[in-house]
Amino acid sequence: MIESSDFDFENRFVAPTPIQSDDGDDFEISLRPKTLDEYIGQDKVKENMKVYIEAAKKRGDSLDHVLLYGPPGLGKTTLSTIIAHEMGVNIRTTSGPAIEKPGDLAAILTNLEKGDVLFIDEIHRLSRQVEEILYPALEDYKIDIIMGKGPAARSIPIELNKFTLIGATTRSGQLSAPLRDRFGVIERLELYSPQQLCEIIMRSAVILGVPCDKDGAMELASRSRGTPRIANRFLKRVRDFADIMGDGRITREIAHIALDKLDVDDLGLDRLDRRMLEMIIKGYGGGPVGLETLASAIGEEAVTLEDVCEPYLMQLGFIARTPRGRCATQLAYKHLGILKDGQTML
Ligand code: ADP
Repeated sequence: MIESSDFDFENRFVAPTPIQSDDGDDFEISLRPKTLDEYIGQDKVKENMKVYIEAAKKRGDSLDHVLLYGPPGLGKTTLSTIIAHEMGVNIRTTSGPAIEKPGDLAAILTNLEKGDVLFIDEIHRLSRQVEEILYPALEDYKIDIIMGKGPAARSIPIELNKFTLIGATTRSGQLSAPLRDRFGVIERLELYSPQQLCEIIMRSAVILGVPCDKDGAMELASRSRGTPRIANRFLKRVRDFADIMGDGRITREIAHIALDKLDVDDLGLDRLDRRMLEMIIKGYGGGPVGLETLASAIGEEAVTLEDVCEPYLMQLGFIARTPRGRCATQLAYKHLGILKDGQTML
């Protein structure tokens, strides 16, 4: 039988987006690297950004507009803050859904100082009207504000200070072509390797004052789904187990026991991932099955499966995307201990 949905998927312990137990922003902010050198991994993106930043500084110019894309929790917001810091400018942070009306964006743009960074998270969620204000702002650093209504309406041009837009998105395919074309720099963030996550965990452990063995950090890292946000969350939660079950030090054994108790398996899969794989295998004979069909069979939204389960399951080679839908691979059968005929291995 495939398990029924009886837990809070919104607040999944392995969610790559912030969850309630993350204690709001404070925890994340305290762990955020502040310079490019402190930012672990993403070497290609870092190298490129170093060149662009150096060149812009040498010319005394602002940085070109930057689009960062990739799954949640990989460090897009962190990198944007670092870019502003390295450029020596202020950063103003907002998000696509927070900018409801063109006037909201106009207010933000007119308050930017020369060289400032405007960071818009989830930029694919900007409305069409808001996007249209953004085009001339990005190209010519000016906007037209419409005053009044009907025949008396007048358009007033306003000059803006030269600024840098950094847009972040998990779904670059949903970005309109005209908006995408206005970014001079487009960089994709990749999932992190367990070694890089181990380094991130060791760094966070020092900041939080948690004694942590390299083996313990590696155990957490290998279950963190390639995502620093999840790695840091594991560290914070496993610290409690270390305090109660041991002498406060995170060892491999403590990490192993704690994550098992938290229902995160050896590869970092939780119940939702396993349900998705089981549904493909047991419900649809291993696939192919369309994403929408799969989502409604599990009782989950298709975007959740696509954004938070699939990238990691694909990286593990557990799922293949075909034109006719998703298929479970032999590796997925093996991980779940299911034989090709759907029988469970003894
Ligand atoms: P995103 O904006 O992509 O969702 P964030 O920038 O908010 O991700 O990163 C989530 C957390 O992960 C941050 O609190 C930060 O501490 C940590 N983090 C992300 N990338 C790195 C990195 N390269 N090195 C160290 N820590 C990182």
